[in-house]
Amino acid sequence: VSRPVLGIDVGGTKLLGCAVDAADPSDPLLERRIDTPADADALLEAIETMVRLLQGGLADAGRAEATGLGVGVPALVALDGVLCSATHLAGLADLPLRAVLRERLGLVVQVDNDANCAALAEARFGAAQGQREVLVVTLGTGIGAGIVTGGRLLRGAHGLAGEPGHMVVVPDGRACPCGRRGCWERYASGTGLGLSGRDAAREGRAPGLVTRAGGVEQVRGEHVVDAAIGGEAGALVVMEEFAGWVALGLANLTNILDPAVIVLGGGLVDAGDVLLAPVREAFDRLAVGTSARPLPTIEPARLGPLAGAVGAASIALPAEV
Ligand SMILES: [Zn+2]
Repeated sequence: VSRPVLGIDVGGTKLLGCAVDAADPSDPLLERRIDTPADADALLEAIETMVRLLQGGLADAGRAEATGLGVGVPALVALDGVLCSATHLAGLADLPLRAVLRERLGLVVQVDNDANCAALAEARFGAAQGQREVLVVTLGTGIGAGIVTGGRLLRGAHGLAGEPGHMVVVPDGRACPCGRRGCWERYASGTGLGLSGRDAAREGRAPGLVTRAGGVEQVRGEHVVDAAIGGEAGALVVMEEFAGWVALGLANLTNILDPAVIVLGGGLVDAGDVLLAPVREAFDRLAVGTSARPLPTIEPARLGPLAGAVGAASIALPAEV
C-alpha cells in the first residue's frame, strides 16, 4: 500500500481538500471543504487546518500519514512556488507559498496555478486519460487553461505558461480587467457570453432573454444557455457567435500546440451539445489544413468540481503518466 498524497484547491469561496492513493488518484480516499478566508495569514491557517482534517481522516481510516501536499491557487505561480500575482486573493502577491508551507507543515509541498492542476488531472485521469498532448480550457468567469505536453505540464521559462485567456483576439475590443482590450476571455468565457447576451438584448435581438433575466442589464451567460436550450432564436444566434469565439481561440492554440485532445471545462460545458456542437463545427471550419491533417477531438471535462483538488494532489505525485 502506497502512502497517500494530499491535494488542496484554493477556490474563491471554498478550500476543497482531498487525500488520494498514488495507485488510483482519480478516486479520492476522502474529501473535506472549508471556507476560504479573506487574507493571506488566515489562508495559511486554513491550509494548515485542512491538512490536519485530512491527516485525521486518514488516521481514522487506518491509513498512513501523507508526506506530500499539492496546492492549487488562483494565481500565477513561479517555478519556485512564489505567487506572482493573485488578483482574487488580497495580500498574497510575492508570497513564497511553497517555502512557507514546507516550513509550517513539514511536508513535501508543490504549488501551482489552479487551472494547471485541473488540466493535469483531466489529462491523467479524466476526459483525456492516456493522452500525452492535451489542451485543457476552462470557461468560467475568465478562461483558465493548462497545456500538457509529453505527459507533463508546460510551465515555460518562469512557470507562467498556459494563460491563453489574455491573448488578444480583437484589437481595441472589449476592455479587460487586465488593463488591455480585446482579450479572448472577454468573448469566450461565461462573462463574455453574458456581455454578448446583453449586447443582443440592448439591440432588441433577443427579447426572450430580457424576459427570462428580468431586464436587459440582468442578462447573464446562464440565461443565454437556458434560452438556447429552450430553442429561442435570438439566444441561439448569440450562442452561435459565442461558439465562434471559443473555436477561434482553440484553432489558434491548435496551430501552435497540435494537441491530441482539447478538454473544455467550466459550468457552461454542462449545457452539453447546445454549446459543444457549434464549437466543434466552428473549430473544424477555423483550423488550418482541416482536409489534410488530423484534428484534436473536443471533449467535455469529466472530473467536475474535484478536478482542482485531484490535480493539486497529482502535482505532488511522481511525474509519469
Ligand atoms: Zn486581459
